[in-house]
Amino acid sequence: MKIIRVKPEGWELPKFEAGQFVALGLQDDVPRCEEATEEFKEPKPGKMIRRAYSIASSSAQDFVEFYITLVHSGSLTPRLFTLKIGDKIYMTPKPTGMFTLDMVDADKNIILIATGTGVAPYMSMLRSNALKRQGNIMVIQGASNSWDLGYSSELQLLATMFDNFSYYPTITEPEKEPAGWAGDTRWIEEIWEDDVVKKTFDFNPTVDNTHVFLCGNPNMIKSMQEILVRDGFKLHKTKDPGQVHSEEFF
Ligand SMILES: Cc1cc2nc3c(=O)[nH]c(=O)nc-3n(C[C@H](O)[C@H](O)[C@H](O)COP(=O)(O)OP(=O)(O)OC[C@H]3O[C@@H](n4cnc5c(N)ncnc54)[C@H](O)[C@@H]3O)c2cc1C
Repeated sequence: MKIIRVKPEGWELPKFEAGQFVALGLQDDVPRCEEATEEFKEPKPGKMIRRAYSIASSSAQDFVEFYITLVHSGSLTPRLFTLKIGDKIYMTPKPTGMFTLDMVDADKNIILIATGTGVAPYMSMLRSNALKRQGNIMVIQGASNSWDLGYSSELQLLATMFDNFSYYPTITEPEKEPAGWAGDTRWIEEIWEDDVVKKTFDFNPTVDNTHVFLCGNPNMIKSMQEILVRDGFKLHKTKDPGQVHSEEFF
């Protein structure tokens, strides 16, 4: 996993909503990194390889930050991981997407659930103005190991600074931790079922007081959607608003 920053050259990125994404692109003749395995699907010669990436920085910066995982059999990420500081990359000029806090009233509680790099849009929200909201905010982040919990230091720091913010990391492969791991090792679904929000903030998340955001691995998103719908939450659709907002990364 890598955090990269891209600075537009000769143009200004328009104001964007925290949670939106852009596409990054490279030509197929950029070499793939050493760690890459056989390419799942070879790109068409001469055609730019483009993929969507959530913005992790706030709109107030003159650069855009991304948190990207290497997909060994992928087309774009193995090329992206060979870039050096100063190299050029294509970026679409207009951020887009509906995975934002726009539709959520300021007094509602927000639970931001991520696997891996799915934490990226939440960093943009927290680095923008999310922490000025009246409601409580919690980030639940799952990864295989502690070194895959990107932004955990920043999230821990925010939790010490803001009473209405809490950070809850969990890892699923604690046996690989060289210095041990004192935190949770359960799957996100089990943590939710164990009333982690009630134990942290002393309120029960319900359809009336809470919106839940799900980002990253499609399997986690699907199983959390099932649990939340069972608990009375409604999946959000543009024309039929609900309290469960999802962004799948592949
Ligand atoms: C709205 C949106 C926002 C996104 N934001 C981010 C982000 O912030 N950070 C980020 O790292 N990715 C993000 N992604 C995923 C990203 O767009 C690419 O799909 C991913 O980087 C893989 O690209 P690739 O060209 O290397 O692999 P591809 O050539 O597209 O895929 C090769 C194979 O790997 C599988 N695959 C694709 N992605 C993954 C993955 N993440 N893990 C395991 N297997 C995978 C594919 O199904 C395929 O079988 C986002 C996707 C969307 C739709």
